Amino acid sequence: MLIFELSSKGRRGYRLPELDVERVDPRAYLGDYFREELKFPEVSELDVVRHYTRLSQLNYAIDTTMVPLGSCTMKYNPRINEELAGLEEFKDLHPMVEEQAQGTLRLMHELGELLKEIGGFEGISLQPAAGAQGELLGLLMTLAYHRDRGNTNKRKVLVPDTSHGTNPATASLCGFEVVTVKSNREGELDWEDFQKKLTDEVACLMITNPNTLGIFEKKIRVVADALHEKDAILYMDGANMNALVGLAKPGQWGVDVMHFNLHKTFSTPHGGGGPGGGAVGVSKRLEPYLPVPLVVKEGESYRLEWDRPKSVGKLLTFYGHTGIMLRALAYILHYGSELKKVAQYAVLNANYLKHLLKGLFLDPYEPSPRMHEFVLSVQNLLEQGVNAMDVAKALLDRGFYAPTVYFPLTVKEALMIEPTETESPQNLQRFAQALREILQLVKEKPEEVKASPKKTPVRRIREAEANRKPVLRASWA
Ligand SMILES: *Cc1c(COP(=O)(O)O)cnc(C)c1O
Repeated sequence: MLIFELSSKGRRGYRLPELDVERVDPRAYLGDYFREELKFPEVSELDVVRHYTRLSQLNYAIDTTMVPLGSCTMKYNPRINEELAGLEEFKDLHPMVEEQAQGTLRLMHELGELLKEIGGFEGISLQPAAGAQGELLGLLMTLAYHRDRGNTNKRKVLVPDTSHGTNPATASLCGFEVVTVKSNREGELDWEDFQKKLTDEVACLMITNPNTLGIFEKKIRVVADALHEKDAILYMDGANMNALVGLAKPGQWGVDVMHFNLHKTFSTPHGGGGPGGGAVGVSKRLEPYLPVPLVVKEGESYRLEWDRPKSVGKLLTFYGHTGIMLRALAYILHYGSELKKVAQYAVLNANYLKHLLKGLFLDPYEPSPRMHEFVLSVQNLLEQGVNAMDVAKALLDRGFYAPTVYFPLTVKEALMIEPTETESPQNLQRFAQALREILQLVKEKPEEVKASPKKTPVRRIREAEANRKPVLRASWA
């Protein structure tokens, strides 16, 4: 139900006090901009509270259930960080002030230094508003680097076949030709195929580590050396840093540029489309090209540095999302030297859950060790007419959000499961039990699995149509 449908003429939730100044006609000031026919719902405060509380209950959320959505790191984020993000000293600061914004600049500087330390990088920018924008920045800097070096033939970007869609999309947006590199039987980048495709025309490789199969790319150092031999850049997609924080530093593997997803790894809740934080760390080679302004510390004070002749310029109107930076800084400082436990428990939980599901589904990469997530296939259920989407929908009826499905593209009927470090072993057991029940139902009554979900407010949605021809307008009288 739309809130407009609750509207009742003259009903109000709030009454303004009596005017104690002379009444004026807004038309005199607004002229043509004055719109009389604006239709607001006329509702009481209680109507509003009930409406939005009801809407919130229609959703799956980390506050009500586990969200094992692989590649997304939908962990629980401590509430205290939400309070910090709302501190008015930061929240209400005007983005044009600089000298008076010492606290905010210090926040940015300290977070930047910590992320450099965590990632093993020489330079950092907190500007990108999302992982995908971090990728854009990475490739813009790659372009600037090659232009600077007179590398006129660098027109290709290598992307593994397990990569996240944003990687090839970004490369193609930047005018590169995208060349796909196969993965091998172990689920890692195929070394032979990589060598074959690593020509002088390659500007960059975009790799995710651990990759989207949850498998660690053990050859990363030799891959870096091979790229550098050709004066090519190694971009690492850092969306999976939850498997590495505090344990390993990509900068030390020869990674030239990497985006962090502050909204995945560092305590900003996400899943509604933003805002996000895609901080980008760089090696010495790319440092001169970082976007302006950078936050620099001089003595005890901080300022914005604009004088960077090789910079790719500006990426956002201002400097990134302060609320997200506050959460990230608080999160990192809270853990301190214990930060590695985040990664250790994330990996432990994924492997425990994988163990609980052993033998129930196909595992195309069975012997390969997994990090913070793993990908299974339900291809064997196709005989009963049941696919990955059906299993995902059946989970919704059992009170769980579904894993990512049909990704990465290299696994047929894929379920990509990332439990994260914040779930208890008991929750993982419940989740495994729900999957076991679904498999039992597939044996007995596959049509029931195909008919799920039954308990959700809306049942099957025609997703492609909703995406291509969205109805974004409601009509009310
Ligand atoms: C989430 C994700 C991205 C994109 O990050 P956004 O912040 O959503 O733009 C890129 N690569 C991988 C592997 C991801 O999981």
